Amino acid sequence: MKIEIVNRPFGLQVGLALPKSLNAPTKLGSQVFFLDDRGNAGLALGQGDQSLNSDQLRTIGGQICQAARMGNYKDITIFIEYFKSQEDVSKTVQAIIEGLILGDYQFPDYKTKKDDKPLSIDNVGLIVNNDSKIEETRRRIEEVKIYCQAAFLARDLVNMPASDMSPRDVKNKAQEISQKGKFELEIFDKSALVSMKTGGILGVSSGSKNEPYLLHMVYRGGNKKRIAIVGKGVTFDSGGLSLKPAEAMIDMKSDMAGAADVLSVFSVLNDLKIDCEVHGIIPCVENMISADAVKVGDILKMYDGQTVEVLNTDAEGRLILADALAYAETLDVDQIVDLATLTGACLVALGERVAGLMTDDLELRNDLERAFADQGEAIWPLPLFAAYAEMMKSEIADMANVQSGKFAGAIMGGLFLQRFIKKTPWAHLDIAGPSFNRKSLDSFLPAGATGFGVRGLLQWLTNVSSESRVAKQRQND
Ligand SMILES: [Zn+2]
Repeated sequence: MKIEIVNRPFGLQVGLALPKSLNAPTKLGSQVFFLDDRGNAGLALGQGDQSLNSDQLRTIGGQICQAARMGNYKDITIFIEYFKSQEDVSKTVQAIIEGLILGDYQFPDYKTKKDDKPLSIDNVGLIVNNDSKIEETRRRIEEVKIYCQAAFLARDLVNMPASDMSPRDVKNKAQEISQKGKFELEIFDKSALVSMKTGGILGVSSGSKNEPYLLHMVYRGGNKKRIAIVGKGVTFDSGGLSLKPAEAMIDMKSDMAGAADVLSVFSVLNDLKIDCEVHGIIPCVENMISADAVKVGDILKMYDGQTVEVLNTDAEGRLILADALAYAETLDVDQIVDLATLTGACLVALGERVAGLMTDDLELRNDLERAFADQGEAIWPLPLFAAYAEMMKSEIADMANVQSGKFAGAIMGGLFLQRFIKKTPWAHLDIAGPSFNRKSLDSFLPAGATGFGVRGLLQWLTNVSSESRVAKQRQND
């Protein structure tokens, strides 16, 4: 999809003046196709009574995409001034084209008949009557394109069936991205993990014929600030011997969405010229059943030496992340953020559109909240309430991997991970809710993987690097 600021409209014109004979649609979400007196095709959109915020504009962007596809228009022009927006022109453009691009996603699927695929949009022209903001608007358009390209990669990776996205496939993808971006990549295969004694990763993967990996990619931007992002990569989660019910297993190819986010962020770090050091760490396994599978009651000795009694083999994400976080700690980075489809409990607490944010670091919390909000990716804090940690006591090991009792499951996941963080400011994002939808939940969120987290993380890294650029400038002045 090509998107540019233009002077002359073409194709379907969104916001073209309605002929006098037609009434403008008023209700938010309603739309009218029309031909004006000269035969130009137009689309008028209902905008409700109030000025639109970014979230509403994003939804409208997706609706424009759907309408254009329905009317068979591959080329569209959008009159930005037509929209009643609370935001300035650059942010209005940002939200509309985010919705438009994200709504235009199509998974390169496995269907053998290609003819019933919807067409996708080729050219988008934007008419912007505000010269003072034109450079800022251009910059945002470029940024949105890159962010969405990364989100699409995450969607593709998550939407792939687990048989085509095994731990080895994730490793191959990391190699491909690293070679292209000239990143360092360290691959710890099974024998390396045995000598490192990563009991969590080895334990969880022991029931699968697909061997595990721990992947470590490094991007060295110019600045001193060093960040690690860690993504849970369970390419399929059967639950292990604590087997999931059939219904709950249907979406489990999506249990590597955190890993997909990390890979996708790396795929565009060079394009965004991010100015800090970023470490991408992915523990990657398949949680399956066999005679070799980890058993309920087994004790695993983790990478940092702590012991864990496995009381439920379906609480496996925290076991592989514990090793990955302990490994991240050895890198002496300034901040660690992990993303994981960790608990069904987070889905119960916050629903399908909101991720749980757990951290004791206020600055990191504020920075992440600001960045994710800017991208319309909702995250909400849950407390790492220390007294609850008592509930994961084990009689014979340092801790159990699940709590006694059935409440506060999302927080318990966070508290478990916290045990493996010794010194580094850290935040945990439980993305189990918003990373995958069985049905489309918004005009820009098709059914399947959403790529949730990629754009928020990129915004955060962009903010971090522009702040450090300012600091550097001050030093030089
Ligand atoms: Zn599980």
